[in-house]
Amino acid sequence: MLGTKVLLIYTGGTIGMIKDSETRALKPFDFEQIKKEVPELNKFECEIDTFSFENPLDSSSMNPKVWVRIAEIIEDNYADYDGFVILHGSDTMAYTASALSFMLYGLNKPVILTGSQLPIGTIRTDGKENLITAIEIAAAKKANNPLVPEVAIYFEYNLYRGNRTTKMNSEDFEAFDSFNFPLLAEAGIKIKYNTRNILEVKTENKLTVFKRFDRNVASLKLFPGITKEFVSHFIKTPGLRAIVLETFGSGNAMSEDWFLTLLKKAIDNGIVIVNVTQCKGGGVEQSKYESGSRLEAIGVISGMDITFEAATTKLMLLLGGKTSTEKIKTKFLSPFCGEIS
Ligand code: ASP
Repeated sequence: MLGTKVLLIYTGGTIGMIKDSETRALKPFDFEQIKKEVPELNKFECEIDTFSFENPLDSSSMNPKVWVRIAEIIEDNYADYDGFVILHGSDTMAYTASALSFMLYGLNKPVILTGSQLPIGTIRTDGKENLITAIEIAAAKKANNPLVPEVAIYFEYNLYRGNRTTKMNSEDFEAFDSFNFPLLAEAGIKIKYNTRNILEVKTENKLTVFKRFDRNVASLKLFPGITKEFVSHFIKTPGLRAIVLETFGSGNAMSEDWFLTLLKKAIDNGIVIVNVTQCKGGGVEQSKYESGSRLEAIGVISGMDITFEAATTKLMLLLGGKTSTEKIKTKFLSPFCGEIS
């Protein structure tokens, strides 16, 4: 680890909070002081530099502009650091991780996102372990190559592929899960890397950062009883270019004619529709049931086992890249960096 350099980027979230000694309210602490707050950081053999957002964000306020900002910080510092740790609120961490994984094309270094459920300045905080192990993972190498050359989330002893992850608990320390992809690593006494699940290092890769997002993507979550009025208004949203259709089970939707007619009309008007399941695990298999195969027949794209977070961010980026509607389908279905099986 000697000679290895890690850049720690603080974007906001609970992890960077301390209790004000007078008011007892939570407030972001001066990130420059992180080594005072977490003296363990001084014990690392690797060099740790820090970069903090001037105005740390609650991650519920994240958006494509901020993703671009984070990606640019990585781009500007890419040659100088061996790995990056991004401190981020857990609420939308899975979206940021998914977006970064698609933006950072040709990535060959670890980008590890982490945060915490309890502020780092509280006694029972989960933030210290998350931060310390995330740095260790970002700095980890074998034969001078990074062990995790991809965007990942480290939380509560588990390392997940970023674009396979979903926040699934707002209270437990174990806040994330990756239902359709195995863990990249588990931290116990040692960090056990599951190398066969981790993307390979491709030393010839050069980093290219895609920065153009089109936000005209919307989600339509189905529920029994959804009305024709609502769906027909929804698909008429001005500027709408893609819909993530959240369906039942293995990709099924009600088979009423009005519903299929409206979706078909949207597709004929050039709107891309991707089918993802409302289930946490498993994926879409449109041909399994008749209701799903009717969606297939009108040109709805099967999202297979992609997460909602990865589907929305990937669509925003594909649409931003001025890709033709026909090509979007092919590109959506081909994995960029392990987001879809
Ligand atoms: N609301 C916070 C955020 O996402 C929660 C957290 O930090 O985990 O920024």
